[in-house]
Amino acid sequence: DFFAQFDNESLVAADKAHYMHGYHIFDDHRENGALNIAAGSGAYIYDTAGNRYLDAVGGMWCTNIGLGREEMAEAIADQVRQLAYSNPFCDMANVKAIELCEKLAELAPGDLNHVFLTTGGSTAVDTAYRLVQYYQNCRGKPEKKHVITRINAYHGSTFLTMSLGGKAADRPAEFDFLKDRIHHISCPNPYRAPAGMDEAQFLEFLVNEFEDKILTLGADRVGAFFAEPIMGSGGVIIPPAGYHKRMWEVCQRHDVLYISDEVVTSFGRLGAFFASEEVFGVVPDIITTAKGLTSGYLPLGACIFSDRIWNVIGEPGKGRCFSHGFTYSGHPVSCVSALKNIEIIQRENLLPHVEEVGTYLEERLQGLADLPLVGSVRCKKLMACVEFVADKASKALFPDELNIGEQIHLRAQKRGLLVRPIVHLNVMSPPLTITRAQVDEIVETLREAILETA
Ligand code: PLP
Repeated sequence: DFFAQFDNESLVAADKAHYMHGYHIFDDHRENGALNIAAGSGAYIYDTAGNRYLDAVGGMWCTNIGLGREEMAEAIADQVRQLAYSNPFCDMANVKAIELCEKLAELAPGDLNHVFLTTGGSTAVDTAYRLVQYYQNCRGKPEKKHVITRINAYHGSTFLTMSLGGKAADRPAEFDFLKDRIHHISCPNPYRAPAGMDEAQFLEFLVNEFEDKILTLGADRVGAFFAEPIMGSGGVIIPPAGYHKRMWEVCQRHDVLYISDEVVTSFGRLGAFFASEEVFGVVPDIITTAKGLTSGYLPLGACIFSDRIWNVIGEPGKGRCFSHGFTYSGHPVSCVSALKNIEIIQRENLLPHVEEVGTYLEERLQGLADLPLVGSVRCKKLMACVEFVADKASKALFPDELNIGEQIHLRAQKRGLLVRPIVHLNVMSPPLTITRAQVDEIVETLREAILETA
């Protein structure tokens, strides 16, 4: 028996003693330890005791093609044998990084033909921010460097990307350092629109607020707008119809770069390789991606940017270079995993599958809307969330300390389902390979967990 090898007690003790988990309340870790995972296959993961869970979270919004793929293991092993590492700087490049950049340019919308490879999502967004600064300097507009982002946004965990983010819980005092360069506007959450506004009025409010912010700061000082197509950890916020197009038009009017943070929404999660154009009708200036790029098999991120930017920064004869890069930029083994991942998504027709099964998830999850505690069900293809409220009419939340999302998550976990708790929410982003039967399993198990909690 595979699981017999694990000495659970000593693993739990070692985890508590030495492993500091991000986003885990220390007291909870000390008292309860963690769910220690030993294996995974497809949409399922197994703890060290051999208990099986349907991972409706897809790892961390990332196990798009599902776990345990033999051909992925082979591709990775082959690359390790052939070339495990190669210097990404200066005048060197490795074959797999070149092939991947070419592929990403082919898949990305419009004139987004240039790629800077990073180690994950945060470093992709960091790179985009630096690129904005560099671009504005190169075109002789060094004042045009303020950026606008949104309340509840999540753009990563580095100092910079946390500062771009707008989740109250993630913004302790030290992020004040950048507060006069980074400005936050409203979260486009129709469920929490100001009282009395319908969706169309809310959209006008959001667009006007954005344009007013640019005008107040001065359009000659605003360099970029950062936005996730659908906010992920901010609570699966699906903006009012037409929002991104309208925000992009404001950017066009004021010469502001539109940066689409597609770390979660790309590589099939919304039924397209990139959601910006295909789902929201916008060709951004820069797209950042990671996660589903390798389906989590290895760490990798990318900052993909336009000919328009390249033509400015890369102007011939200027002798410029971008002083930026990570030791593991373009890591050949990570790049192989991305290439294999893309091949699998295409060969198995996973994008049309997401259209079909994602629509089914949308329909089935809406069936939970009438349950007690459920304030809002938000789902677009394979990005979903249920928001819990103490009072449906007023939409009042439970006190944070009650950890309602965690309570429901733990009850689902006992039944073999993982749905990620974020305070008042449970979020879901299952692998793209999920079946209708697994969608039923998610919805029915979550229903039981909610009813047991109510
Ligand atoms: N941007 C978005 C929209 C994300 O959701 C995340 C991670 O969840 C990041 C950036 C950061 O990516 P990473 O955790 O790979 O650094």
